Amino acid sequence: MSILESGRIRAQAEKVLARCKKLAALSEDVGSTRRTFLCPPMRDCHREIAAWLSAAGAEVSVDAAGNLRGFYGAEHVNAPRLLLGSHVDTVPNAGAYDGVLGVLIAVAILKALHGRRLPFGIEIVGFSEEEGVRFGTPFIGSRALVGRLDDEFLNQRDVNGISIRAAIEKFGLNPLEIPRAMLSGDTLAYLEFHIEQGPVLESLGLGLGVVEAIAGQTRMEFTFLGRSNHAGTTPMDLRRDAIAAAAEWIVGVEHTAKSHPGLVATVGQIEAEPGATNVIAGMVRATLDVRHASDDVRDRVADMLVRQAEELVERRGLSLRRKVLLSQSAVAMDPFLVEQIAGAIRRTGSEPHRMVSGAGHDAMILAEKIPVAMVFLRTPGGISHDPAESVETEDVAKALECGLHLLDQLASSSELQKRMCRA
Ligand SMILES: [Zn+2]
Repeated sequence: MSILESGRIRAQAEKVLARCKKLAALSEDVGSTRRTFLCPPMRDCHREIAAWLSAAGAEVSVDAAGNLRGFYGAEHVNAPRLLLGSHVDTVPNAGAYDGVLGVLIAVAILKALHGRRLPFGIEIVGFSEEEGVRFGTPFIGSRALVGRLDDEFLNQRDVNGISIRAAIEKFGLNPLEIPRAMLSGDTLAYLEFHIEQGPVLESLGLGLGVVEAIAGQTRMEFTFLGRSNHAGTTPMDLRRDAIAAAAEWIVGVEHTAKSHPGLVATVGQIEAEPGATNVIAGMVRATLDVRHASDDVRDRVADMLVRQAEELVERRGLSLRRKVLLSQSAVAMDPFLVEQIAGAIRRTGSEPHRMVSGAGHDAMILAEKIPVAMVFLRTPGGISHDPAESVETEDVAKALECGLHLLDQLASSSELQKRMCRA
């Protein structure tokens, strides 16, 4: 491939980064990036990406869930298609790369084909919504592709009382056409390039990683109930201090998480009542977030942390209430695609690091219907969801190279031929 032979791949990577920065300026806020579901700047964002997609030979449309889609045909009509993409929405005060980088890498890969046709078509998707900022519920775009945008979901409202349905209409789209956004039956797989949003690849000195699974999550809320009392007159041995109990438990959470490889557990929010300097706290509410690639390990550790809280409140003469806020299973990436990606990364001269994504991604939703896989790019400082978010030009160049090797491998793969017969 000419782009690989010449030094032009670095120039292409620089172009991808410049495009990311250009899109970062399309924002609802002045001076920082915020682009939520179908906000007015999303129209400009679509226009920019659509022009780049057209220049790469794709036919561009926007589906009724606001996803930007560009289709590049195969060498034969009626051939199946491969999906590439990521999301184009952002969090408030966002960086320039979370989401759009994956879309623009896909566009650059398409462009680098120089019109060459493959045994499968390529459809690039810029998902309309992944972050869950505007409606508090994420994955609006990818849900449409798997047929999970029902009436109840569309009735959810933002802080201004505008429903998802109304937002779609306001953008000039027809919610009744959402079923037409669904994945076509000939879709082979979905591949996504995304920044790691963590420090692992950087700590290993590697540019790219292949994701093997997206971790499952358990979120719970614990309420430690003690007795509030006077901080001056209540002796230490006659207290039922909810903050001290919660503190002991929280240190235990950290300790237990560290003794289980690959597991992360976080108490991210605590609230004490009555909350005064001279009053012993009678009640503490604390959240717990546990993630691991294995649902068994996650369930076992979550149970362990519940038992630790129960034993501790009994010993301290308190009581405990708890509720589960979320229990989401881990999602495995397709083993065949993981191997292909690992091979493609190796061909760029790097060792492919196999990793678990601790964050949720659109791939997790699409995995309900089709095989999915993800490639992570090193995130300097592990910083993301912040204007300081960055990515190395050399890593983007490697991602482009990896993507092109991958397309070549898939085009000549007998396993994919078998899947294509089934599609
Ligand atoms: Zn993202």
